[in-house]
Amino acid sequence: MRENPLENIVFCKKCVESNQRFMGSIQHLDTKDNIKQRASIDDGICGACKYFESKKKINWAEREKELIEILNKHRRKDGTYDVLIPGSGGKDSIYLSHILKYKYKMNPLTVTWAPHIYTDIGWHNFQAWQKMGFNNELHTPNPLIHRKLTKLAFVNILHPFQPFVLGQANLAPKLALEKKINLIIYGDAYFEKGVGGNLYSISGHVNKALFHTNSEDLYFGGIHITELEKYKISKNDIYPYMPLKNKEREIEKLTVLNLPYYLNYNPQSNFYYASENSDFKVNPYRSEGTYTKYASLDDKLDNLHFYTWFIKTGRGRATEDAALEVRNGIITRKEAVALIKKYDGEFPNRYFKEILEYLDLSEENFHKIIDSFRPQHIWKKNKDKWELKQAVWMKN
Ligand SMILES: [Zn+2]
Repeated sequence: MRENPLENIVFCKKCVESNQRFMGSIQHLDTKDNIKQRASIDDGICGACKYFESKKKINWAEREKELIEILNKHRRKDGTYDVLIPGSGGKDSIYLSHILKYKYKMNPLTVTWAPHIYTDIGWHNFQAWQKMGFNNELHTPNPLIHRKLTKLAFVNILHPFQPFVLGQANLAPKLALEKKINLIIYGDAYFEKGVGGNLYSISGHVNKALFHTNSEDLYFGGIHITELEKYKISKNDIYPYMPLKNKEREIEKLTVLNLPYYLNYNPQSNFYYASENSDFKVNPYRSEGTYTKYASLDDKLDNLHFYTWFIKTGRGRATEDAALEVRNGIITRKEAVALIKKYDGEFPNRYFKEILEYLDLSEENFHKIIDSFRPQHIWKKNKDKWELKQAVWMKN
């Protein structure tokens, strides 16, 4: 059992989000557990819902004009790439890259940090994306090192996705500099999910300070950088995960944008767009831990990632999906609550054997580690069964 200062669990009255949700964990490498913020819920309403209210007043035609001006500044006519698009081949990256190439006539290069273990549908969608007419750089991290880091991150901080998240975040700026592309555009709707913390400024520009750091005082998988050698992980090995350093001031040359600031779109509209314009497929079955079929499909470790969230915060993937769909008017709050009760925190059974093999853990040790991260203000044990002390579907 772990202690937590945020003992008062609150749910947003408008959607279903919990104040236990982590925010902005992406680049805080100067803390062991890589997390600094949690969602704030003031006057009963979460930050994401407040953002949605403010969205209604946005003049989208003006925003699109702003975007086109920036694109025109970076547009090239000599055949070289003028924009770098990080993505996986999910519905968001398909929408973003397609619209930039075919509507705004840019010449994009797409870049992908490979998942731990591709699912069949993930590999299909990745290829379907390229077949829409894109050049792609697929970066596959050294599997020996990536597995070690993933295991350390699971055992020490119960965040098996940390190495993936870091690698993915830090790959694009490095590649952009290498390829002399001065514009990077991300398509993730971080604001809409109420996450991203200080990574995304409200101006539409991504906070570049987080891509580079002076410090050598960093943690990876809960291990200080100077101690990674004990695990036979060298400085060379860790390079792909490292943020750019301050002395490499080239980062100043980069313009890094977040597309949802400029264009009004939502997960459902992106899904329809991807289905109409590519061979994008959804799973024939719903994803574990939620009721949806269309998001985060490409990695066999995805379900584990969402499950560890649920253990640490009491809110899982169904809460994530339902909160966003309530804000977008796709489902009601009442429906959301019922879906969360039914699916949130479902155990990742489908690829469990492969997950254990990947992490090189016995089933017993896996559960021991999971249970050691259950915060006591969130969990109680009823005979042999772990139960949430509070949930959005309970009367309180
Ligand atoms: Zn809310």
